[in-house]
Parts: sequence; structure tokens; C-alpha cells
Amino acid sequence: MVFPLWNPKPEKIYYLRGLLLHHCPRLATTAAFQKQSNICNIYPENVRSLCEEGRLNEALRILCDFDHALDCSTYVSLLQGCINNRALPQGKLVHAHIIQMGFGADKFLFNRLVGFYVKCVSLEDARKVFDKMPERDYFSWNAMIAAYTRQGIAREALELFHLMPGEGIQPNQFTFSSILPACSDLASLERIHEKIIKSGIELDMVVESALVDMYAKFGCIESARNLFDKMSHRDDVSWMVMIAGYVQNGWAEEALKLYQVMRLTGLKLNSNTFASILPACAYLGTLEQGIEIHEEIIRSGVESDVYVGSALVDMYAKCGSIKKAREVFDKMPRQDVVSWTAMIAGYAVHGCAEEALILFQEMKDSGVRPNHVTLLCVLSACCHAGLVDEGYKHFNNMRGYYRITPRMEHYRCMVDLLGRAGQLEEAQDFINRMPIEPDAAIWRCLLAACRYHNNIDLGEHVAAQALKLDSQYDTPYVLLSNMYAEAGRWDDLEKVRKLMKDRGIKKTPGRSWIELNKHVHVFYGGDRSHPQTEQIYAKLETLAKQMRAAGHVPHRQFALADVEEEQKEQILCHHSEKLAIAFGLLNTPPGTTILVIKNLRVCGDCHSAIKFTSDISAREIILRDTNRYHHFKNGQCSCGDYW
Ligand code: ZN
Ligand code: ZN
Repeated sequence: MVFPLWNPKPEKIYYLRGLLLHHCPRLATTAAFQKQSNICNIYPENVRSLCEEGRLNEALRILCDFDHALDCSTYVSLLQGCINNRALPQGKLVHAHIIQMGFGADKFLFNRLVGFYVKCVSLEDARKVFDKMPERDYFSWNAMIAAYTRQGIAREALELFHLMPGEGIQPNQFTFSSILPACSDLASLERIHEKIIKSGIELDMVVESALVDMYAKFGCIESARNLFDKMSHRDDVSWMVMIAGYVQNGWAEEALKLYQVMRLTGLKLNSNTFASILPACAYLGTLEQGIEIHEEIIRSGVESDVYVGSALVDMYAKCGSIKKAREVFDKMPRQDVVSWTAMIAGYAVHGCAEEALILFQEMKDSGVRPNHVTLLCVLSACCHAGLVDEGYKHFNNMRGYYRITPRMEHYRCMVDLLGRAGQLEEAQDFINRMPIEPDAAIWRCLLAACRYHNNIDLGEHVAAQALKLDSQYDTPYVLLSNMYAEAGRWDDLEKVRKLMKDRGIKKTPGRSWIELNKHVHVFYGGDRSHPQTEQIYAKLETLAKQMRAAGHVPHRQFALADVEEEQKEQILCHHSEKLAIAFGLLNTPPGTTILVIKNLRVCGDCHSAIKFTSDISAREIILRDTNRYHHFKNGQCSCGDYW
């Protein structure tokens, strides 16, 4: 490239020299600088050196005084300086200089400009430069597509991606790895996957990991695992996306298995690995494995990582160990909104509303702004404790004070709060006044409250609303049948049964599990497949006798309606959580706390029976159902029979 000869006025030279002497004595005193004829050779070097030294503003001042073109690498240094400082206006100045000096057709510089605007997250400017480029190459296309994907502007990313071949540019590894996260559904993912295969390029780990990640995101966990297994090389990211994929799809046991395999590969476990595996322990309630991972975290020296800390808080809280969760939380060197929220959520599900609300206040006092999840946890804390006024206060503060627009889940939580407190009419009014269309889940929430408070008339109306929006979900049918059964309305019950049968709806089978020696034992209602079945049922028999002696009367209405009374009692006896608890009592030393997790809400009979069991066996029993944690101790439950 030929540079126009620079012929500055003497005062400019003087100014420049002064500036450089002041800021950069080494350069200003070089012999070359003294000679005016050589000045344009040394000049760019000076600017570059200033940029390298991080003295961007001085470099820019020289640029402003300089009305000749600089060489490309100097512009690049200037732009890099602007990127390092995220200095958008200053970068625009460099851009203007480039255009003014007639570099308007330089592909290399234009690519750098696109890169600069992308890094400064000014995508509109980046796109303007991109559109004006007379000739575009891989770099510009890839930079633009990746930027759109990163900013979540998937539509634009995909649009550009499909335009590429038209300009004779074939996508490469980088393009594929940046376009994959832009897929919004399985169909578009499969289309791009097909393109990748057709392109015939040899896939690298980044693209393969992105594919695994996306298939898992769309719930195709088997396809994801297939791709993962076929990878010839895997790094920590590949393992992490597969593990996280399992967790997100509810395959927590598989996630834990894979984590154990990963440990054997000798790959270094990092904070991302831990942050993705801990939710598996949280989901399963496998405290023993969670503790083991916590030890591994300490060994790896990443316990001060805020993501890992938050995941640990969440894990301990969900594994029933709220004290330990708080211990980890207090030890964290820094807490962000996720950590505060995890701790508040922990208190909420354990029914410790007071602690949750105190912590929420502390969070605000410490200057951390709550987000919509935090507010949801606060509302849910109020809900579990029946604090209607407190709940209303926070809900009403959402828009104005917290600047958070309530979402469907916040409305649902409020309906739950009102419903549980027995304010059924108020809850119905609340739904009718919602500024967004209520979903089926909101009506189901109210239906559960109608069922709890035995309001069959409202229940029928609410069930109809719920079924109008979603007729495939089993809960409304089940709740309605229970209500009819309790009221002895067998004809109506039969109608619901028939409707369920006609629509092909099956009741979700009850399932409970318990961890013993790092192994998860799963039980279904009436399950007889466990090797210890004989002992478990014998234990249940003994317990039932002891309970009856202590005054427990089985709540028969929680069993199916059309079986004999005696049989009903049998069915109740064999609900999955009872089997899991009996198994826990048989296999753990006296005094050990038992944690059982159930996939549905605990029924009234089991709840009452577990209260008796905790007393008879002198054990603390923690039951996590879909809704909350029940801490049973000395014949009482922490929920105060309100769930
Ligand atoms: Zn039950
Ligand atoms: Zn309870």
C-alpha cells in the first residue's frame, strides 16, 4: 500500500513532538523523528505504541490532527484499543478517518470494523458496515452471524446463514458452531444438521458439542447421546453439555453416571462441570453424592466460584439440608442475584417463610436487585405460610418498585396463595382481572384449592375452564374424581372416568425414591419388584398396627372409589412414599433422618400416616413432593397440615 506523503505544518510537528515527548519519551527522541522526511515512516509506529501501552486517547488525539491516511495495521491497533476499552464513539472516529482517507473498499479494514462494532455490541452499525462491504468473506459473515446468535437475534442469524451460499461463500466449522444455537426448534436444527453433513467438512469438537447441546435442548436426549458417543475427541465442554442435557431432560441418574465416567477420563473438572452436575443431585435429592461432589469441588479449588456456590446452595436445600445450604451461602465470598435467590427459594420450599423474607430484605439492603425468579420465590414463601397480605404487598410492588412485569408464574403463585388461604372467590376474581390470558395451570391451581376446601360447585366450573385450555393433563380429572368420590357422587365420578378413558388419559403413576449408599431406590405404588419386598411389606404391616393403636384412622377417600373398603386401606398402605419410607427405616441406623422424594403431591392419608410413623420410629422424615418439603418429627409436620 502506498501512503500519501505527509507534509505537516511546522506547528503540528511541534505539537506532536511535545505530545510524544510527554507521553512516550523513548519514541519522540528517536533520530528518525527528528527528520521530517522520514516522519511518515515512524508516525504510525508511534500511534501503535501508544495503543499498545493502553494510551488510547493520546493515540486518538494524534489521529484527529492527522489528515492523511495511516497504514492498515495502525488503524487495526486503534480499533483494537477501542475494543479493549469498549469505546464505541472513539471507534466511530477511527471509522470516519478510514472512510475519509479513501479506504472505503478495503476488505481487511472493513472486517475489522465489523469485528469492532460486534465487540462493542452495536449490531446495527456492524450490519451497516457489513451491508456496504463490496466484497464479503468468511470472516465478515461469521462475525455477523455469531454476533446475532450471541445477542439472541436468531432470525437475523438464520437469514444471513441462508444467504451465504448465494454469494458463493461456503459455511465452515465456525459458521456452524455459531448458527446452531440460533435454531429455535427441532426442525430447523435438523435442517442445519443435514447441511453440515452435506457440506462434507470434517467436524471439530466445537460443532459436535454444539450439536449435542442443541439436540438435548429440544428433548432428543438419545440423539444427543448418540452424537456424543460418536465423537472421536471430547473436551470438558462436550462432557458438560451432555451432562447438562441429561439434567435438563430429567435424566438425573444418567447425568450422575456420566459424571462418574468423566471423572475417570482424567479431564480436569471445572466450575462449569460442577455447576451442571449439582442440579442432578438436587433433583434426585441424593445428598450423599452431593456431599461427595462438594468435596471434589473443594479439592479442585473452585468453591469460591459464584456459580458453583449457588448450585451448592440449591443442591443442599433441595436435598433437605437447609442448614448446610445456609452455611455454604454464608461462606461465599460474593453472592449474586442467583445465590440470594437460591437461598430464598430453599427457605420457601421448606416452609421457612420468615427466614425467606428476612433474607429478601438483606438482599435488597446489600444492593443486589431481585429478578423475576427472586420475586417468585418470595411469593411462594408467602404462599406456603399462608401470608396473604405479605404476598399481596410484594406482588403489588413488582411493577412500580422492583420494575418487574409479573409473568404467568407470579399470577399462578398468587392464585395458589389465595386458594390455599380459602379465599376461593377472591382467587377467581383475581384470575378474571389478570391482564394476560390465564393458562390451564392457573385454573388447575385453583381447582386444587377447591378440592382442598371441598368446594365442589366452584370446582366443577374451574375444572371446565382448565380442561378447555388443556384436556390432556390428568390432574383436573383426578381432582374432580376425588371430589365426587368424597361427596359420594358415583354417577358423576363414572362420567369423569369415562371421559378420561375416551380421551386416552392415564393417571401419572405415583413414584417415590430414596438414596441409600449413593444408590437411588425407586418405588411405584403397590410395587413388588424390589429385592427387599417381603421385609418392606412386613414393616408396613407392623407400622399399620402400631399406628392404629396410636389412633390413626386411614383416610379412605384418598383411595380409588370403586373398590371394597378393606382393599382401599390396602391400596393406601402401599402408596409409593410409604414403601420408600419403610425401606429407609429398614436400612438405616436408628435416629438417621430419612429423605424421600415423590413425583406427585402427597395425599392426606400418607401425610397423616407419616406423622405417626415419625413418632413411632423416633425418626425425622423429610418428604419432598412436587409442591414443597414436609419435615415430619415427633408426630408433627412442618407444613402445619397446610399444603
Ligand atoms: Zn398417599
Ligand atoms: Zn406436611
